[in-house]
Amino acid sequence: KLLVIGSLNLDMVVNVDHTPATGETILSDKMNLVPGGKGANQAYAAGRLGADVTMLGAIGSDTYGDIQIESLKKAGVNVSGLIRRKEENTGIALITVNKEGDNSIVVVSGANGTLSCEDIDQYSSLLQEADIILFQLEIPIETVLYAAKKAKALGKTVILDPAPVPKDFPDELYRYVDILKPNETELQMLTKVSDMENRLCEAAGLLKEKGVKNLLVTLGENGVYLDAEETGVCQIPAIKVDAVDTTAAGDSFTAALAVMLARGKTLKEAAAFANHVSAIVVTRKGAQSSIPSLSEVQKFI
Ligand code: ADP
Repeated sequence: KLLVIGSLNLDMVVNVDHTPATGETILSDKMNLVPGGKGANQAYAAGRLGADVTMLGAIGSDTYGDIQIESLKKAGVNVSGLIRRKEENTGIALITVNKEGDNSIVVVSGANGTLSCEDIDQYSSLLQEADIILFQLEIPIETVLYAAKKAKALGKTVILDPAPVPKDFPDELYRYVDILKPNETELQMLTKVSDMENRLCEAAGLLKEKGVKNLLVTLGENGVYLDAEETGVCQIPAIKVDAVDTTAAGDSFTAALAVMLARGKTLKEAAAFANHVSAIVVTRKGAQSSIPSLSEVQKFI
């Protein structure tokens, strides 16, 4: 049983000719409204992959909140942990994508920013029922710290996707995490080690020294690097595909990893499966819309 504790956003994706400069107004003829947010993406992916998964997070009482609930339900996610705030809006991401495919994003946290330690206490039965709990960092860091500590005290497996890395990342959090899954940029921000191409092992070593038990670093088209108790140091190459849009690649990787660990697979087996799931995701456009079902993944493998 999985529990995702995290953010839910509504992505407003606008196609533009060029990214507007300061003070510039430009016109666009198209906007897509799509459910997103790292927490919701991970819950959605776990649901699509057939897991028993519950989402704990905060949304507004607006129609954007309704859209999120519908989307998660469709993927088979239990939404009993979604808190509806009367006084807040559902989180929103304003995304412009220009002709070159480059994007710029503003996230308005809205209700996500209100998820509190009291909420975690109020929904502690969800933590108790879960075997594996997934976190990302689009909700207040003190809530993540509190919930991860509580999850560990309950003997749960804690997975942290440390994105986005906040300025005030507390090293104490490492102690409550069983599996840390940064991408290269996040690893660099956490360790202040640059030049990942040559110094990946060194950066990984720094995190291990800080108490991280199992580290998986996703390397985009280079696959994934593992430094774990069970496997030692090793790398799994990416599956060769024609990538068109890497949105949600990391989120689906984390979700797939958790789904397979919940089924009793080893970390290496789970990472190899997640590598296939993300390879499918990068061949399709969009976030949640690009996430495959379990049978699609099985066919692909
Ligand atoms: P994030 O989306 O967090 O930046 P990455 O870019 O590291 O994460 O990608 C996550 C995973 O997605 C990779 O470990 C890999 O399994 C898969 N992936 C990403 N880009 C490609 C690609 N071009 N070809 C095949 N697989 C990819």
